[in-house]
Amino acid sequence: MTVRVRFAPSPTGFLHIGSVRTALFNWLYARHTGGTFVLRIEDTDTARNTEQSLRTILDGLAWLSLKHDEGPYFQSQRAEIYRRRIQELKDKGLAYERDGAVRFKMPREPVVMNDLIAGTVTRELTDREALDPDFVIVRSDGNPVFHFVNVVDDLEMKITHVIRGEDHLSNTPKHIALFRAFGAEPPAYAHIPMILNADGTKMSKSDPDPAKARLASLANYITDGYVPEAVRNYLCLLGWSPKDDRQVLPIEEVIQKFDLPQILRSNARFDVTKLTWLNGEYLRTMPVDRFIELAQPFGGGDPKVLALVKDKLKLLKELPEKTRHFVSDDFPVDPEAAAKWSGAGERLHRLADKFAATAWEAPALEAALKGLATELGIKPAELIHPCRVAVSGTTAGPSLYHMLEVLGRDRVLARLRK
Ligand code: GLU
Repeated sequence: MTVRVRFAPSPTGFLHIGSVRTALFNWLYARHTGGTFVLRIEDTDTARNTEQSLRTILDGLAWLSLKHDEGPYFQSQRAEIYRRRIQELKDKGLAYERDGAVRFKMPREPVVMNDLIAGTVTRELTDREALDPDFVIVRSDGNPVFHFVNVVDDLEMKITHVIRGEDHLSNTPKHIALFRAFGAEPPAYAHIPMILNADGTKMSKSDPDPAKARLASLANYITDGYVPEAVRNYLCLLGWSPKDDRQVLPIEEVIQKFDLPQILRSNARFDVTKLTWLNGEYLRTMPVDRFIELAQPFGGGDPKVLALVKDKLKLLKELPEKTRHFVSDDFPVDPEAAAKWSGAGERLHRLADKFAATAWEAPALEAALKGLATELGIKPAELIHPCRVAVSGTTAGPSLYHMLEVLGRDRVLARLRK
């Protein structure tokens, strides 16, 4: 059997981080099995669909390099197929009209589902459903409902595995009944547990806490300067694990190991601190060229400067702040560091004089600084730290001598003397 999976978002808003993980798990399963990843846009709710939302979905998937093999199919263009399928059920006596709507004759006996993650779930009709078990599949305005078009498309598109959020588990008995009504075997189901905030609350764009609200939407990670490799890596680990403690996982390895029964049954907790750490790891270890490419939307800069600060960032949005002293004399100075080294003025003048007579290359600058330390009978650190504060405003940062080299002679001498 060739695996066919799909991501079937409704373009009615922003792209939720949970949906992104659903797309990722579908994509991983397709890549793992050599199957096909279908993209289907569930846009039958014309009142709520927006072009902007569709763009956000397509851009988000492209940003994460989750390429689909087929589609996108648009449900809004498939009305004829749905009409045919409604007729089929009517002809079989399994659908009928009442009050202008078309209803499906829901079987009265319990539906048993074998979910690849949730296990065996037996669903009986609720008391309310038992009073009127037949549910609407075409509304009186002529529009077929979600349950119906979702099943028809999974059937027509020969989907073998439905991998989706656990919030759809309660819809599945209806879906299974519809498949059987068409004389088809339902696909295998894998309902993925939810992603919750660290405090166990639902991840929602309308959370009253703005910091938590931001976490729900993929777009915010893009603007904050997370890199796609890191976000994808982190989402792989939300609900799935390679069964060891490693956090940095090359995607090729995840593809090779990923399988549905390993997905954890419990809800995942979103740990933004871990994601941010992981992002720093990706920035640190990625090739400089890739870093320069990713830095462009964040102001870019001189490639030599970018190469210097690359290892010091957690998020790309920190770039302007971390590179400010390379492009302007107006940079913030850490008051604590400045106070600590306020008595070093004389030393820094001596250093400036020394540097004035030195070839402007990192190794020569290092030798000059160390030479002066010996002359003055002090430890090199007693020159290194105040020098760093004078030229960059802080005691932390990239390799001092490389930074001096990139800053250039004029800037460095002026700042030391100032
Ligand atoms: N359009 C549905 C959603 O976005 C699809 C559910 C499914 O994957 O079957 O939740």
